[in-house]
Amino acid sequence: MLNTLRRIIQAVSDARDLDQALDFIVQQVREAMTADVCSVYLSDDTLQQHVLMASEGLAAESVGNVRIEYEHGLVSIVASRAELLNLDSAPNHPAYHYFPETAEEQFFGFLGVPILHQRKVLGVLVVQQVCAERFDEEQENFLITIATQLANAMALARASGEIEKLLGQHEVTDSRPLPGLPGAPGVAIGMAVAIYPSTELEKIPDRDADDPDKEIEAFHEALSSVKNDITRLSNRLKDVLPDEERALFDAYLLMLDSHSLRGVTAARIMEGNWAPGALRYTIDEQVQKFAELDDPYMRERAEDLRELARRILHYLVQDAQREIEYPQDTILVGDELTAAQLAEVPRERLVGVISATGSRTSHVAILARALDIPAVMGSVSIPLGRIDGLTLIADGYSGNVFISPSKQIKVEYERLAKEEQSLDAELLNLRNDVSITSDGREIPLTVNTGLLSDISPSLNSGADGIGLYRTEFPFMTRQRFPGEEEQLRIYRQALKAFAPKSVTLRTLDVGGDKALPYFPIIEDNPFLGWRGIRITLDHPELFIVQVRAMMRAAVDLDNLQILLPMVSQMNEIHESLTLIRRSYDELKEEGHEVKMPKVGVMIEVPSAVYQADRIAKLVDFLSIGTNDLTQYLLAVDRNNAQVASLYDALHPAVIMAVQQTVKAAHAAKKPASVCGEMAGDPAAAVLLVGMGIDSLSMSASSLNRVKWVIRNLSSKRARQYLDEALDMEDAASIRGFLNTKLENAGMGGLVRAGR
Ligand code: PEP
Ligand code: MG
Repeated sequence: MLNTLRRIIQAVSDARDLDQALDFIVQQVREAMTADVCSVYLSDDTLQQHVLMASEGLAAESVGNVRIEYEHGLVSIVASRAELLNLDSAPNHPAYHYFPETAEEQFFGFLGVPILHQRKVLGVLVVQQVCAERFDEEQENFLITIATQLANAMALARASGEIEKLLGQHEVTDSRPLPGLPGAPGVAIGMAVAIYPSTELEKIPDRDADDPDKEIEAFHEALSSVKNDITRLSNRLKDVLPDEERALFDAYLLMLDSHSLRGVTAARIMEGNWAPGALRYTIDEQVQKFAELDDPYMRERAEDLRELARRILHYLVQDAQREIEYPQDTILVGDELTAAQLAEVPRERLVGVISATGSRTSHVAILARALDIPAVMGSVSIPLGRIDGLTLIADGYSGNVFISPSKQIKVEYERLAKEEQSLDAELLNLRNDVSITSDGREIPLTVNTGLLSDISPSLNSGADGIGLYRTEFPFMTRQRFPGEEEQLRIYRQALKAFAPKSVTLRTLDVGGDKALPYFPIIEDNPFLGWRGIRITLDHPELFIVQVRAMMRAAVDLDNLQILLPMVSQMNEIHESLTLIRRSYDELKEEGHEVKMPKVGVMIEVPSAVYQADRIAKLVDFLSIGTNDLTQYLLAVDRNNAQVASLYDALHPAVIMAVQQTVKAAHAAKKPASVCGEMAGDPAAAVLLVGMGIDSLSMSASSLNRVKWVIRNLSSKRARQYLDEALDMEDAASIRGFLNTKLENAGMGGLVRAGR
């Protein structure tokens, strides 16, 4: 059964078309379970009916026609309870509802399991048998496992509108958004450009071929290149492998020349798809055929075919990616977008970003905010393969994405986007105003930067300095560790641009989700592993080069502050301070006119919160990294869209931890700031003001938004809101409460689309 299960799972994940996947499943499941019937019902929320979509065993004419009202029949019981139902005699059950067109009167044994995706019932999977017996436990478990796999395929099909088409409703998808997570505020209307991992065939999107002849030529060239590679490999192994083993390579060469690969793909290209998309279809089809065979040797051939496809794709995509033409209003869509992919699109053409994975505090979202581009993260159900070239709306406040929206929705969002523009223009007027509460408390606002090589957005934002300079970027964009002189030049630029305002340079914080191409770290739990200060203290040679470069960059400017990331032990601070002092002494000895900079610690690990009082006595300032602090306090991976609804810096526990840190800093007469994304969240800023925070550091695009809040708020009122918030039990209530306050104060435009 395990083999059958694997085969079905593979076939379902390979299937491009839900209809095809359902037919395959019902046929395979019936066979594997030696049942007499296997059927799938889809739940149609609009009409409140479960529709029989595929069946092996019930009368063929009933498929697509039998519709069971939500409150009727056994299928409805399974769906409404979201629980399996196993009966020896279905007709004896009081809820049994007989549909003559199915001819199911001959079947007694009944087992139904819900198809659940993210707690929602999408349909019901049913097996039936003639004999009046319950299905056994192994059969139950098998069916449940199949249903979980089917759920993923169905969720995708639902997202792309395929389910509605199957159910015969064409209008619904237009107005129903796909849910995602707010990534960066703003509204984007534009055209999708799908970015895909170039070696993953199943993620290749469909795309119109502009010039089919050229595509075919590229395809043939790719085939020739792969043939050359295979021949070369085969020759290389001539002396080590016996001839019969090398026959595999001949088989590969035959496959590459076969009509089923070459001819069929070319025909698809002529029908209008580009070469990688056409190839994907051909391979899917062939793999499916192999997968249906019972001969294990033949099934292995499916893997060979995939391997060949990966090689062909490698050549094809190399060509295609060089040629990517970004439309004027590009919305970049990808499974796991990276900062580099974002940076590749000309800024003036990029209007929005949608990532299937990640969340608000992923580094791609942080970069989008720095560039002031609306972003939606964790849009798990976005149909990547079929989205290229479609019109999209991305609402960076709610996380909603509309695919090919109706005219009505588009008009509405165009209006909201206009309002956004006028709000932005108005906010820009605050640029030169002081960040001061209505009762006169000044709270300097600084920027987070460093993920971009260009610091001009930060300079133009009217910031009071740089509160967090992430130094990883120059390390990420090189083939090796940058040396002292290289680093010095980069840091000097930032220090000089902002002098005399202070610039806080953070020592290298790689590991976690930030990798260096030349310094791979393989760990099961990277966020709990070798990261930040742990790496640089294990490599003092790297740490020393970096702090030397920082101090030398600040000669004559004297506006440098050094910040230590990921501190979880007191020892790490002692060692860092020793190394910084030693570097300072050595630089002095060498004749450099350096000054000892202020040194601060990031409070981003729970242990540091509990020791914040001790830490504050040792260093000059504390900077609270709420992105990691939230992740570590709530045990929620900051990049995992699956659990992103649990990730919110407004969770009472996070608020209490931040408050405790601020109090500890103040008790030691040291300033505390927040440099995590919480600082740039207008609602959260209210609470931070209430705690008496000394400064806030955020992406340039959030700066005037937060300044607007601060200028319209008194510290007394902020304290009162903080007390009220701390009385609530979860993040959602606190967010709702604060959003209402902002809305009532005429600042609703900061927390939702429009003014
Ligand atoms: C944080 O963790 O809050 C932070 C500012 O650092 P980073 O996002 O770079 O991990
Ligand atoms: Mg951090």
